[in-house]
Amino acid sequence: MATLRTAQDLLAHGLIAPEALAATRAVEARYAIAVTEAVRARIATPDDPVGRQYIPDAAELLTLPHETADPTADAPFTPVPGVVHRYPDRALLKPLLACPVYCRFCFRREHVGPDGGLLGDAALETALAWFAANPQVGEAILTGGDPLMLSPRRVTHILDRLAALPHIHTLRIHSRVPVADPARVTPALLTALNRDKALYLCVHANHAQEFGPDAAPALRALHAAGVVLLGQTVLLAGVNDSEAALEGLFRAMIAHRIKPYYLHALDAAPGTARFAVPDERARELLRGLRGRVSGLAWPTFVRESPGGAGKRPIGPAWE
Ligand SMILES: *Cc1c(COP(=O)(O)O)cnc(C)c1O
Ligand code: SF4
Repeated sequence: MATLRTAQDLLAHGLIAPEALAATRAVEARYAIAVTEAVRARIATPDDPVGRQYIPDAAELLTLPHETADPTADAPFTPVPGVVHRYPDRALLKPLLACPVYCRFCFRREHVGPDGGLLGDAALETALAWFAANPQVGEAILTGGDPLMLSPRRVTHILDRLAALPHIHTLRIHSRVPVADPARVTPALLTALNRDKALYLCVHANHAQEFGPDAAPALRALHAAGVVLLGQTVLLAGVNDSEAALEGLFRAMIAHRIKPYYLHALDAAPGTARFAVPDERARELLRGLRGRVSGLAWPTFVRESPGGAGKRPIGPAWE
């Protein structure tokens, strides 16, 4: 079965009701939809913690006054197309804007999609030349979109070029692929990622229910290829805003050799208000876990400061 990409596909697979077809089509006209086979198998009901992340809702078409198309303010920190440089020692490279799945809460939802944002050869050269010309940047972070949607050949090319720069000591990739589309973790991709310079793979997952039978061998193989696995999670109302859900997720991550790295507060992208969790509620949830759950399972809770000031830890405080 192929990836589901339209309102009609979702209807045909029982993921939306016939009454919801018109509204889902209206959302489809504005924001990309994708549900992979692996994700589809993890959805028991459309409003469960997995379904809610991917199945469109009419509320997505309502933009609140505080919601913006670029909530992390990447645009002012973009020296050349595809590069975001906000911190002195590290910078993002966004080689494409396609993803295996499209999250309804995505902070880059106005930019991501299946047919946009692939850096062509010339733009990629310009971006790589920027990394070569900025020796203070020791860490290159591939994000997007999802960099592991590129062919293993293209991944190899980009990583080879970055790793060849003497000042680049760390490579990092942010991806949903190992959990949401583990079939893409092929021997060719593992070879592309297995290299002398340290490579960190930050795996995006928001609920233990997302980890299906094919994620475990994919993650095991990545680890065996020398890849350091980190976890990133967005705190989402109706998905993981309970102590039990967060505990289950972080325990699943460490059991799969993923060290939870960041728990992100939701960024206010258009039409995402139904996922918002107040910071105070978030701190209460985290306080409930402390002491009960292994320190290995503990991420840093961060929020992206408006205007591009970057990520800030936001508690809880323990004094
Ligand atoms: C989030 C982000 C990073 C990575 O920050 P870490 O705290 O090192 O994970 C790097 N550059 C930009 C522009 C970012 O937004
Ligand atoms: S995988 Fe990441 S970039 Fe892609 S839609 Fe989801 S949150 Fe956005």
